[in-house]
Amino acid sequence: MNQAVRRVAIVAAMPEELSALLQAMPPDKQVQRAGRTFWLSQWCGHEVVAVLSRIGKVAAATTTTLLLTEFAVGRVLFTGVAGGLGEGVRVGDVVVADALLQHDMDASPLFPRFELPGLGVDRLRADADLVALVVQVAGEVLDKAHLHGLLQSAPRVHQGLVISGDLFVDTTAESAALRLALPDALAVEMEGAALAQVCHDFGVPFAVIRTISDRADDAAHVDFQRFVLEVASRYSLAVVKAVLERLPR
Ligand code: SAH
Repeated sequence: MNQAVRRVAIVAAMPEELSALLQAMPPDKQVQRAGRTFWLSQWCGHEVVAVLSRIGKVAAATTTTLLLTEFAVGRVLFTGVAGGLGEGVRVGDVVVADALLQHDMDASPLFPRFELPGLGVDRLRADADLVALVVQVAGEVLDKAHLHGLLQSAPRVHQGLVISGDLFVDTTAESAALRLALPDALAVEMEGAALAQVCHDFGVPFAVIRTISDRADDAAHVDFQRFVLEVASRYSLAVVKAVLERLPR
């Protein structure tokens, strides 16, 4: 590979989120590191590496570190599902993170709640150009899916704060507490802010794209299983492929 060419990484936490994409991506080479498989390919005009991070912040951080240190990655796209928190963020909608925060980071009273010790901030921003591209492309993909009758109601694309923690939020009480503490949070998941912190440390642009699988409430586990099996993987494929086709080389 030309040293000047930096790969685009595509990361998801669970196999269900990436299976359609892995089938569509022309296979080239597989590399094993730290119990993960990294799939290398040339796809849509880019050198691509796809990987499953596994669930949770540490798993996401390990995976992202490997991508940035061993796979010459210059841009990172995370694709997966999340629980909707914001008002009007419904199952089937897409949330594109413009900033990410770890909702279980609390080193108070030494540091303000949520602040990342040493970084002096609680939110890390995703790359503005990538976010703008993803928001535009996701809107077009969802419109098409709706017009073709694949989705019953018109899904919406939201842009804003996504929060991460090592917790599957599946009670109405937990999601209400998060909403109270972080009123502008649109969605909650378990990896994005960890990936963001590693990308921030390495100075590598990234974006996090989340399809809403549940409302992080008492029905979350039921909605989650159904959605992940039926929809998540097809959503990821459609959005990521369209983003790669438009992404500058
Ligand atoms: N019970 C599930 C656990 C998966 S954890 C299972 O049987 O596999 C949920 C995964 O989806 C994580 O990768 C997380 O990022 C995302 N997610 C979706 N909805 C979530 C929610 N309500 N709270 C936290 N993470 C959620």
